[in-house]
Amino acid sequence: MPLARDAIRQLAEARGGCTRPVQLRRTDITTGQVDQVLVPCGATLEHTCRSCADRARSLRAQQCREGWHLEDEPDSGPPVPDETQESWLTLRAEAQVRRDHALAQREDTTGLDELIGELDDHITDSGIRGCLTPSGSGDHDRRPARRSRSTRRRQDTPDLPKRPMTARTTGRVFGAPDGRRYRPSMFLTLTCDSYGKVGPDGTPADPGRYDYQRAARDALHFAALFDRLIQNLRRYLGYDLQYFAAIEPQKRLAPHVHLAIRGTVSRTDLRQVIAATYHQVWWPPTGTVRFDSDHLPVWHEATGRYLDPATGELLPTWDEALDAIGPRDEPVHVARFGPKFDAQGVLGGSRDSARCIGYLTKYLTKQLAGCHTPDTDAQAAHVDRLVDALRYEPCSPGCANWLRYGVQPDNPRPGMRPGQCKGKAHRREHLGYAGRRVLVSRKWSGKTLADHRGDRKAWLIAMLDLPAADPGQYTWERVTPADHDHMPPGRRLLHVLTDRARWQAALTQARRRAQDTDDLPATGRAA
Ligand SMILES: [Zn+2]
Ligand SMILES: [Zn+2]
Repeated sequence: MPLARDAIRQLAEARGGCTRPVQLRRTDITTGQVDQVLVPCGATLEHTCRSCADRARSLRAQQCREGWHLEDEPDSGPPVPDETQESWLTLRAEAQVRRDHALAQREDTTGLDELIGELDDHITDSGIRGCLTPSGSGDHDRRPARRSRSTRRRQDTPDLPKRPMTARTTGRVFGAPDGRRYRPSMFLTLTCDSYGKVGPDGTPADPGRYDYQRAARDALHFAALFDRLIQNLRRYLGYDLQYFAAIEPQKRLAPHVHLAIRGTVSRTDLRQVIAATYHQVWWPPTGTVRFDSDHLPVWHEATGRYLDPATGELLPTWDEALDAIGPRDEPVHVARFGPKFDAQGVLGGSRDSARCIGYLTKYLTKQLAGCHTPDTDAQAAHVDRLVDALRYEPCSPGCANWLRYGVQPDNPRPGMRPGQCKGKAHRREHLGYAGRRVLVSRKWSGKTLADHRGDRKAWLIAMLDLPAADPGQYTWERVTPADHDHMPPGRRLLHVLTDRARWQAALTQARRRAQDTDDLPATGRAA
């Protein structure tokens, strides 16, 4: 016999209802009427909530579709931050709150000031101009000026011809003899290089000779390599190339990237740009293990740094270790794409275009490692060996693994232990790639994900002929388990199930009506 709650969950899921709804208390500010509203959890991974993840994926597909074959420049209203910029700004906001809190508690803010300085650098690098807390406004005056380090951005320039840049984001138009005009776009797949021969199941023919270290490092720096490719392509092509990219693992577990780009590039050009693209990692050397097993650096409370337990000497700080990288040193790693790539031209609205969008969004609801679950012992062992190789690789300047190589991690804290860094990249489910799975350039569709979501909502409201709600009409509060009106999960699911059934019936009816009268709203799809 199925358990009542499981059965309800399955039914709710089958009808596309959220299985982890959040309960909100909505009060009408004019009438004072209180309603309980269940809001979908908004998860993007199917193991958290399948219905929400499916909706998130189809929203991404819509975003991809709308931007890919744009013929006119997207509306250049006030530029909204793209997702990379948004993530840096969010981190920056959190750091500011922590710093202001520390200041109020009269605690030392040096570490946080440095962090803020670094985040400001990232924000600038990501293309945002101006300063969030300009000096003179009080707070930032006390921040020590950050030294500019030559090693930080020392990237050799690629050996590529450059074209003069134009601001255009759309590709070239081609005329056919019959007078029709085409503006083709492209679907590309780029992979990492080979780390050793693999069989059809993705496992190495000779695990002993498979280069797991290089595989681990390429995965760790894949996002930076991708950034560099886009920069090089833009320079080489001379226009502001736009992309929608999805990153996922191949069967051999190396990340690869599928990308839809607006406009076309010849295979010869592409081969040249890929060959010239690399990312150099200028980090302190990790060739010698200085501290291991029981012999580990110890935290020194007074200085807030780690020291060598044998000599009592403080380990060099992250900045000192970077400064020690000399002009004749080599980068610790150079990430490159493999020479093999796949490129096809795609026309807007074609069956190919729909197929590629399906391909781009196929695995978005799964975690990286969940894209290929190991079926055989050999595959499981392959995952294990890659995770082992990732264990002691530094994932970032703040990684605990730097202690192993005798360097203070950036912003050190007590309790750091090599091999136990909490960074996402080390975790089995991420296979070394800790970045975002979907990367969308700023002028792709000219809309944010929230705009696309709004389009769908507007479509649904038009479809069901609902009165448009006035956002100022209600106040909202989150209901907590301690509240008298809190609904336990089972009861919420019952409501979700009923709501979904009602919505679907209303939608079916509206569709039928629309078919009769032919006034189907043109944009969007059902939520
Ligand atoms: Zn959900
Ligand atoms: Zn780490």
